[in-house]
Amino acid sequence: MDCPVPYLDLAAQMRPMRAEIDAAVARTLDRCTFCLGPDVAEFERAFAQFCGAQHAIGFNSGTSALHVAMRLLDIGPGDEVITTPYTFVATSWAISYVGARPVYVDIDPATFNLDPRRVEPAITARTKALMPVHLYGQPSHLDPLRQLCQRYRLALVEDAAQAHGAKYQGTVVGTAGVLSAFSFYPGKNLGAYGEGGALVTNDAALATRARALREHGSRERYFHDEIGYNYRLEGIQGAVLGVKLKYLAAWNAARRQVARRYQELLAHTPLQLPVEADYAESAWHLFVVRHPERDALKRHLEAHHIGCGLHYPLPLHLQKCFASLGYQPGDFPAAEQAARQCLSLPIYPELTETQIQRVAAVIADFFRA
Ligand SMILES: *Cc1c(COP(=O)(O)O)cnc(C)c1O
Repeated sequence: MDCPVPYLDLAAQMRPMRAEIDAAVARTLDRCTFCLGPDVAEFERAFAQFCGAQHAIGFNSGTSALHVAMRLLDIGPGDEVITTPYTFVATSWAISYVGARPVYVDIDPATFNLDPRRVEPAITARTKALMPVHLYGQPSHLDPLRQLCQRYRLALVEDAAQAHGAKYQGTVVGTAGVLSAFSFYPGKNLGAYGEGGALVTNDAALATRARALREHGSRERYFHDEIGYNYRLEGIQGAVLGVKLKYLAAWNAARRQVARRYQELLAHTPLQLPVEADYAESAWHLFVVRHPERDALKRHLEAHHIGCGLHYPLPLHLQKCFASLGYQPGDFPAAEQAARQCLSLPIYPELTETQIQRVAAVIADFFRA
């Protein structure tokens, strides 16, 4: 029988570095530094450097990092944040958690990212920030967004949860705005062995306040300057991430190679393939193709033991949890069509040439039938 191709294979990634991981975790166990501590501090320094930023602050998830970003900007009830309806829900959670309102604008169907041309008409006196997402690892078009932020005095917050090491005009993402949030959920390009996230910034005052907010709003233990959270990154996750960060650039290069092979092998199928904008070097977190018969193709792949995913099947403006925002079907046609047509193929550094060819062959077979 043909070999199955799992959608994700975390075991394959762990195998070659298992001894290194075991040693790093053992050091944390020996030191008993379980919450924050030296492993987290060391990883924060290394990750800030990787992003070309002054400060990285570890969190217990990307969602927590995004939430604290909203707190750091003093965004709250009555405020609006312009963002994309076509992303993982956590982007909008951050806005909702502080009592502000997510204001959606449609995506550019070519990149799946927030369309900068649609942002300006959505700006009101209540708008406090723009929150683009670098979806599937491809940076949003940041220059026009930055210009709008300057003109209207808005903050730019990047949701870079899928884009560790992606480049915008040659620069690693994370410093275009005032704050950027990353996730280290296990399946991300840089994943912990559990939950994790980070904020990245060049602003020392924001970094200091972020460190306080993640630890009960205190700079000095048992003295609480403002209402904070328990959003600490665990020591063991810091140790794991410190080991894995050293491989991230090579892993991203391997993802790029997988993407290139898919582009070659699928070029002559009816699939719409992902494109890299001229300003972008994607981190290739996901490889998302489009086709009107997406559901049938997904069933075909799964019947042949090829894993695939939907990112995302329902845009945020149509989710039940956001019904009170008052959006309707048809409000964001590009996002809605992407949700109907998108299909994520397996992409990870360890995917072999044989596996890539098998995915392509099974897809070709679908269109021949
Ligand atoms: C994964 C993800 C998050 C949330 O990160 P967690 O670490 O899972 O909380 C936020 N935004 C986007 C776009 C994501 O993909």
